[in-house]
Amino acid sequence: MGPALPKRRNRKRTILAAIGATVIAFGTTAFALTSAGAETTGSDAGAAQEDWNPPAELVQPLDEVWAHYEDTYNMDFQNFGWDQVMATGGTINYCVRWDSTQQASAELRDGIEAKLAEQYQLWFDQMAGFSDWPFETIEVNVVGWAATDRALLDWDDDSVDVYIGDMNEGAPQCSEDCGRFFNQDGDYSNCPGGADHHYDQSLWLTDGMGGGAGGDWGQRMGQEYFTGALDQEQITIYLHELGHTFGLDDFYDWTPTGQCCFIMNAGSSPTITEFDEWMLRDWWWHLKTRYDL
Ligand SMILES: [Zn+2]
Repeated sequence: MGPALPKRRNRKRTILAAIGATVIAFGTTAFALTSAGAETTGSDAGAAQEDWNPPAELVQPLDEVWAHYEDTYNMDFQNFGWDQVMATGGTINYCVRWDSTQQASAELRDGIEAKLAEQYQLWFDQMAGFSDWPFETIEVNVVGWAATDRALLDWDDDSVDVYIGDMNEGAPQCSEDCGRFFNQDGDYSNCPGGADHHYDQSLWLTDGMGGGAGGDWGQRMGQEYFTGALDQEQITIYLHELGHTFGLDDFYDWTPTGQCCFIMNAGSSPTITEFDEWMLRDWWWHLKTRYDL
């Protein structure tokens, strides 16, 4: 749902100038990365097959999806959500970009953190025990909030870092010195408070926005939508955009054989399906050779 990720091979070089902009994602920053020796994907040679056991009817569509990734992505990209959780040892820190004129209460703040942790597990609880995946759960913390005005953040405690008036693309953002997107080498030495206060992803909530966007930088959607969905079991747009953070694609112009309805096919399923889950597993299956496991 929402803007797809700029990723076509023939566009990569032309969008290099956008490095540092926030609403860019896979592929865009790849040429700025310097992770020497990192393995590329694209070959399963030598990998054990025994734990890759999707239901028979999903084998062909999963193969089609992976072939499509390899055709359209830069698979050397080094800031997939996978790279982020492997760098942190299974923790994702968030900063909330409160792109809103509404006041946020401490209750809302804490409710958002709890909901992010819960929603993350909807994707990742089915990864536990799969093919060398090293984590039982992903720990999710909100470590910071950004707003245009301190008065919009209706709390006095210092449980999160607060960033006021630091604007990027017309919206408040948390310190670049603390953001993974801006420091993909993991060096947060300029972050006030140090690495413990760094954030891996932004949750960017914008007044009046329809749809959403997602990428290595985080997820963006309507403020009213997200805060209004905190009591929903599955926050559909958020989960879809989080899928993008972990490499999953949109399906605007094709669908895999036999598959119609799944959360990454925007508008076709409000919840994560078995096919979505296997696409996520498939990403890990292909990327895990990057890591010392
Ligand atoms: Zn999408």
